[in-house]
Amino acid sequence: MSDLLTLQMEFMQAAALLIQKVKELGYDCTGGDLFRSPQQAAQNAADGTGVTNSLHCDRLAIDLNLFKDGQYITDDTGHRDLGAWWKTLTPSVPGAQFKWGGDIVHPRADPNHYSLSPDGVRA
Ligand SMILES: [Zn+2]
Repeated sequence: MSDLLTLQMEFMQAAALLIQKVKELGYDCTGGDLFRSPQQAAQNAADGTGVTNSLHCDRLAIDLNLFKDGQYITDDTGHRDLGAWWKTLTPSVPGAQFKWGGDIVHPRADPNHYSLSPDGVRA
C-alpha cells in the first residue's frame, strides 16, 4: 500500500475522532470541504482564499464549521482546543504530521482546517 493511501485512511479515522471530540468539548459542527478538485484549488489561489497545492486535493484535509448553542463560530474559539488535540495524534508514516489551520500564516490563518501533512510542511 502506498504511503499516500495509508495516510488517507489514517486521516479519515482521525477525522472521525475529531468530530467526536467536537461534541466532547461542548460544540456542534457541520462539514465543510474535504476533497477539492485541483481546478477549485487553483481558483481559490487566484481569489487569495487558498493554495494550489491544497491537501484537500490529496484527500488529506477537512474543514469543520463549529457551532456553540446553535451559533456559528467565526473565529478560532473551540478550534484552538481541537487543533491542539489534533496535533497530538501520530501518523504511522515517518515525516508525516497532523497540522491545524490556525497555525497557517499564508495566505491566512484557517482555524476550521485540519490536515495530515505527508511531509510535515504542507498544511
Ligand atoms: Zn481546508
